[in-house]
Amino acid sequence: MKLSVVIPLFNEEAVIGTTHATVMETLAGLLGKGLIDDYEIVFVDDGSHDRSLEILRKLAGESSKVKVISFSRNFGHQRALAAGILHSSGDAVVSLDADLQDPPELIGEMLEKLRQGNDIVYAVRRERKKDTVFKRLTARFFYRLMRSMGVDLIYDHADYRLISKKVVAAFRRIGETNIFLRGIFPYLGFNHEIVYYERQERFAGATKYPLRKMLAFAWEGITSFSNVPLRLASLAGLTIFVTSLCLVSWAFYEKFAGRTIPGWTSTVIPIFFIGGLNILFLGLIGEYIGKIYLEVKRRPLFLVKETHNLGEPPRG
Ligand code: UDP
Ligand code: MG
Repeated sequence: MKLSVVIPLFNEEAVIGTTHATVMETLAGLLGKGLIDDYEIVFVDDGSHDRSLEILRKLAGESSKVKVISFSRNFGHQRALAAGILHSSGDAVVSLDADLQDPPELIGEMLEKLRQGNDIVYAVRRERKKDTVFKRLTARFFYRLMRSMGVDLIYDHADYRLISKKVVAAFRRIGETNIFLRGIFPYLGFNHEIVYYERQERFAGATKYPLRKMLAFAWEGITSFSNVPLRLASLAGLTIFVTSLCLVSWAFYEKFAGRTIPGWTSTVIPIFFIGGLNILFLGLIGEYIGKIYLEVKRRPLFLVKETHNLGEPPRG
């Protein structure tokens, strides 16, 4: 049983050393208990411009079990995670943040759940005491919003999860450019289990998720998994169309009743209103067309958990 530990990082020179040491300690413990018999650590440098890569090179030089993937520029946390998972060779893959906010001590418990026959183990934050009030509120709003749009998410689960080789193979078939992992793993299915943990404080350095990235992330999640915004647009369009039909009949009625005076306001306001609305919705539709363009690789039709007496596994 080989465990791959995937750690994405962006400008984390202040934390890499400690993180590496802590993870190594945990792995040594797991080896000692016989829970694993081999491991690798896959660091994904997401285009850092501090000394991160330099430190990683050194770690890789010291041990062949440390693998490093370094991006040409900052592609974002989700893609860094995806790269690490896709390049891992373990029988199970665990992903965690570089700042030790996800305590590595939990890996043992997660492996236990995997052994009990689960293919995905999600680590969920029990409390967010250590997060800022702002982060807590925006996070809660985010999960609620996603839920209301019909996106299947594990509440308060970030990207700390353990997956089996089987799930990695399934993930490999998701050829999406707009990748939102928190939605993809529940989408993949398989037996899953949840373990709870206390979210730790980032022990050094500052967050690499400013508001701008958080908003981009939330938008990615919504537009990758939900067509509710698009449906809202068509709903609003329909409502306005029906209303305008009523207004047209009313205008005709008034005209034939001989009560109209030449009106400027009633002519100009609809032009602005409908024009503006048109552009807004065109933009929204354009957003999705952009996605369609990037998604031509298409998701698989189905994913198989296991087969019996079938020979060649079916491919959806
Ligand atoms: N990260 C990354 N690329 C980015 C932003 C963040 O690889 O563009 C990494 C970061 O180094 C860390 C993890 O993603 O290992 C989570 O980021 P951070 O801890 O800054 O987010 P927070 O915990 O504040 O939400
Ligand atoms: Mg963090």
